[in-house]
Amino acid sequence: MRKVRTLKQYTALLLSFILIVSAISINIRDVFATNDPYEINYEYVNIKDMAAANVANKEDNSSLLDGLFSFEETTLTEVEMKQPSSVELPVKKDSAALVTDRQVWYLPTEVGRVTQSPNYWHVALDITSYRGTAEVIHPVANGVISGIYTDSAGALIVTVLHNINGQKYTSQYVHLSRYAEGLYVGKQVTINDALGQMGTTGNSTGVHLHLAVLDCALFDPNDNNCRDLGAWYRYDKIRFQQGYIGLGTMMKVPGEWYSR
Ligand SMILES: [Zn+2]
Repeated sequence: MRKVRTLKQYTALLLSFILIVSAISINIRDVFATNDPYEINYEYVNIKDMAAANVANKEDNSSLLDGLFSFEETTLTEVEMKQPSSVELPVKKDSAALVTDRQVWYLPTEVGRVTQSPNYWHVALDITSYRGTAEVIHPVANGVISGIYTDSAGALIVTVLHNINGQKYTSQYVHLSRYAEGLYVGKQVTINDALGQMGTTGNSTGVHLHLAVLDCALFDPNDNNCRDLGAWYRYDKIRFQQGYIGLGTMMKVPGEWYSR
């Protein structure tokens, strides 16, 4: 006699199959995540590297670095940009409306649309703009440039260190098409300064900004949570599992940024 399967049985089979496939792919991703350390190709990723490379001093701004990282010896140097260009600096007219309750985080662009929200594999916001590469990227809070580098995939990246009521945060801006002129590690920046322009450099399928914020000081050798990028990408998953989703918990993203 022919066996007839009910819809329920088919559904159960399908669900089991989906569960098994998901479990396998999660394991595979874990294997790759642990065996494939994040590689960066950079010239001067932080003050220490720049000092070690003996880059000529731009000016003596050592006072800027007080309280940034507690390096015994710091030398402030200028990073030579690969694609220097001037970037127009729009004033954030209505920025007050975008401040959170904590009056800390600002939007990184004047206009935008969120295309990916934080998840375990991507503890960041992806933001696009109809202006494409013309969209200027601003720091989400006042701070100090702590890193200017490209990753192994060629993404142009800037990081900004923030010290907010004694708590250090790092915001990371990825896939830029170009850096703003005159950026250097140690430079103080405000929410009205430009970091660069939106782009699609590196591992990216279209022009957008990948924006991550974590409560640690990236590249600070004394910060075990994110002394380097390997630590940073481990820490973001730890924090995500603790319920922290970066800007999602701190920055008020306009509702229309989620609509199409
Ligand atoms: Zn992203």
